[in-house]
Amino acid sequence: MATAVEATPRNIPTPRIRQTQCFIGGQWVPAQSGKTFETINPATEEVLASVAEGDAADVDLAVQAARKAFESGDWPKMDARDRGRLIARLADLIEEEKEELAALESLDNGKPIRDALNADLPLTIDCLRYYAGYADKIHGQTIPIRGNYFCYTRKEPVGVVGQIIPWNFPMLMVAWKWGPALAAGCTIVMKPAEQTPLTCLRMARLAQKAGFPDGVINVIPGFGPTAGAAIVRHPGIDKIAFTGSTETAQIIMREAAPTLKRITFELGGKSPNIVFSDADFDAAIAGAHFGLYFNQGQCCCAGSRLFVEESIYQPFVDRLVELNRKRKLGDPLDPTTEQGPQVDQAQFDKIMHYIELGRKEGATCLTGGKRYGSRGYYIEPTLFVDVRDDMAIARDEIFGPVMSVLKFRSLDEIAQRANNTTYGLAAAVWTRDIAKAHALAAKLRAGTVWINCYDVFDAAAPFGGYKMSGQGRELGEEGLKAYLETKTVTVALDRQ
Ligand code: ADP
Repeated sequence: MATAVEATPRNIPTPRIRQTQCFIGGQWVPAQSGKTFETINPATEEVLASVAEGDAADVDLAVQAARKAFESGDWPKMDARDRGRLIARLADLIEEEKEELAALESLDNGKPIRDALNADLPLTIDCLRYYAGYADKIHGQTIPIRGNYFCYTRKEPVGVVGQIIPWNFPMLMVAWKWGPALAAGCTIVMKPAEQTPLTCLRMARLAQKAGFPDGVINVIPGFGPTAGAAIVRHPGIDKIAFTGSTETAQIIMREAAPTLKRITFELGGKSPNIVFSDADFDAAIAGAHFGLYFNQGQCCCAGSRLFVEESIYQPFVDRLVELNRKRKLGDPLDPTTEQGPQVDQAQFDKIMHYIELGRKEGATCLTGGKRYGSRGYYIEPTLFVDVRDDMAIARDEIFGPVMSVLKFRSLDEIAQRANNTTYGLAAAVWTRDIAKAHALAAKLRAGTVWINCYDVFDAAAPFGGYKMSGQGRELGEEGLKAYLETKTVTVALDRQ
């Protein structure tokens, strides 16, 4: 920690690590087992803090607290408008501490401070404010049915929700999960990723300060197969919202079957980013580079299959190589750093394995392909050409700074190749021909299609995957609906 903090620029406060315990029923408590685990600074490989290692017993206490808060006390009685006010207050408190929270995120995750400040924090705050505004606008319908009846629907919270989040955007994932759940009137048992528990715990402290009743929000730090699995299996939990890998989602789906929990999944991807020769060249270059290397390539929607039309292929590759060579890697807390370390040793090893595989399968590595520096999980921005669609680096999600550039010749060919994947999270098209852009957008089997832009997120715009990239949508009105049940009430009008 010492090294990272020494390098903290003057305007960024030194992050304080204050919350390291489980947050259950409004209390900060150690794990029942007394166990802790270490969270590591990925830039230095040094221990940042020891955090309570929650497991089934802690999850059970959290579920009891969440059930109590859902069924009795202030939360179910609260006016929807006041519920919205609390969510907005949480957003305000985050905004008041945004520099420190950004630094804490940077320290625990390794992302450059400028990304945390310019992307994670504003999107987190905006998402909470968006859903704060929804809390008092949730209502059913009156429905004209046959006969002399009055029929209406009520939109009710789904209940206690188990939320399991990944490490790539820790705070933002909290906002995506808490915002709609709280607006709907649910109560929460959340497990942050074991790599990055610190900002989620800080957000729980801010929620406590904002005045959420005890038990509405509970946080159990810990590991997936223990604490995460206990959340998935617990009969007192009504719904699971999970963001993470497709493999873990398959386990969750099986484990949730006995209790038939509602499930929403936001999973991996191998997103095609398609550049036509009639695109704005400079904009497409910037979008392709950002679309893959942003956040060290640790984005579920990373544009990791870059398809470039044959006639501009070579100049396009040349410019990407130039950008990669200029990219500044270094201390995440230095505001000029563009790329930080990968989140942990396991991710570092997995990415290096794929780089090896790419070379073995005959792709040509034009930049990177190796570790940067001697400590921290840094990998140089890596770019492969001579990639075939059937190579592992073009098929599997790598979740790192590894780009595959592929060549294409025609519109007909590209839709088929872009869709030739088990994933379907995002896609992008770069062209000045608006008819071509919309035609391709309609053909792409992906939950999000960006045209002449990449990674444009907004709390109001639904996000989620086709195929093995997910189930259901987060954000927007659809994201809220995932936390609601519909109750139909039918009243006989001719009996009295
Ligand atoms: P990654 O491989 O990127 O770390 P995971 O899907 O393993 O992605 O992790 C995402 C989240 O899912 C983390 O919070 C992790 O602890 C949790 N998790 C992992 N395995 C399980 C499991 N078997 N049951 C529930 N949650 C899990």
